[in-house]
Amino acid sequence: MTPAVDAPVTSAGVPAPRHGEHTIRLAADLDTLDRRSLTDLQAGNLATTFAAIAAHPAARRHWFGDREPAHLRDLPLFRADDLARHCPPGSSDLVLDSAESGMVLRSSGTTGRRKVLYHSWAFNDRVAALGTRGARAGAGRHLPRRVAVCLAPAELNGAFGFAMDIVAGLGAQAYPVGSGMDRDELLEVMAEHRVDTLIASPGFATRLLSADDAVARLGHLERLWYIGENVGTERRALLGARLAGLRISSLAYSTSETGPIGYQCTRQHDNVHHVHDDVIIVEVVDAETGEPVPAGTEGDLAVTVLSDTGMPLLRYLVGDRVRMVPGRCLCGSAATRIDIIGRADQTMNIDSTTVSRDLVMAHLAPFGITDPATVQVQVLRDAYGFDLRLLVADTLPCTVTAAQARAELSRGYHLGRVFTSPTYRSFTVERVPPSAFANTGRGKTPFFIELPAASTDPQEAR
Ligand SMILES: [Zn+2]
Repeated sequence: MTPAVDAPVTSAGVPAPRHGEHTIRLAADLDTLDRRSLTDLQAGNLATTFAAIAAHPAARRHWFGDREPAHLRDLPLFRADDLARHCPPGSSDLVLDSAESGMVLRSSGTTGRRKVLYHSWAFNDRVAALGTRGARAGAGRHLPRRVAVCLAPAELNGAFGFAMDIVAGLGAQAYPVGSGMDRDELLEVMAEHRVDTLIASPGFATRLLSADDAVARLGHLERLWYIGENVGTERRALLGARLAGLRISSLAYSTSETGPIGYQCTRQHDNVHHVHDDVIIVEVVDAETGEPVPAGTEGDLAVTVLSDTGMPLLRYLVGDRVRMVPGRCLCGSAATRIDIIGRADQTMNIDSTTVSRDLVMAHLAPFGITDPATVQVQVLRDAYGFDLRLLVADTLPCTVTAAQARAELSRGYHLGRVFTSPTYRSFTVERVPPSAFANTGRGKTPFFIELPAASTDPQEAR
């Protein structure tokens, strides 16, 4: 394939009709472009996006008000609450076209109102093209051949279809497993067909590979492409210990609202991603003040999705804390790099008290517990009250009793209120394998999770 900077391409890499409606331009291979070409491509796509919005009266009024912005940064930040207020079906102001066709997705917001997105089929094609381009950069010379796609397949969530499109785009063979298949049966299929690549959430992969006979049956598994959340140091080590030589990397950094934001090349580790600079503009800001943070420091990620179809988003705060990575990647790509540090809104309301992940972690640090991926706070609630269960990964070399943890946590002002609440009943600490942490229906392993008090098996949680 040739870098198609001078002509729009469809997901198949075929030049789109010159007189076609949509003129956003994608590079066939972002990593071969120099910084200047990337900047020019992005500027052209931003101009196309602004023109498309300006041509649509409701969208124009919403995004630009009564002025014509000269620069993206003239516009205010767009928050999750703003999107929830202005999204379909209540409002179609943000939808440039195709309010009657395309893909309807809902973001998995943990709090507040849901965000619903109308992505046109043209936008969805681009999502698939970006996902495939990113996966190809991540695969390098080791293209997958047989891929089990173990993601939750529906519930207005696009991840499963996205992964299937990527497998198709790579020309590999897909095993559309979903997330509900019996574990033994899945292991049998993967062993029988010598599936070499697993696409799954980190929680799903950890549970699958923790099965007693998984190692014996999956010796041929070469790669885990995870998506949905960061795999984290502990789980990475655990998975690596189970299957030596397993390549573990992010399939894509993507959200329902924006489509793919980033991808991992072969030289990136942990949660560093390149950005799809041709159609995504990233800014690292202070969400409170709206000001950019000093170069290289942590802040809130604002993403602009360049599109002349579907629902382009301008300066949208996706809710992740990130840091720009300076300099050039070892892979040679000039594409922007970001390090995704974690969710900005890791909080839970426990009996009217808002408790943050950072606060809990601060009070667990004295026990040597510093990685949030090794901890889960479960709130077991029924009509009469709640019990608190603190899960700590048994892979951590530390000792902590319930009494010790409670004493330390109670020092935190907000946390102290939880323990003195009239509906508080009990607090326990359990050391369990990370695979025993409860997952959401969408395969995420949240730091805080609420479960029915009667639940005895945390993996049953939805
Ligand atoms: Zn790179």
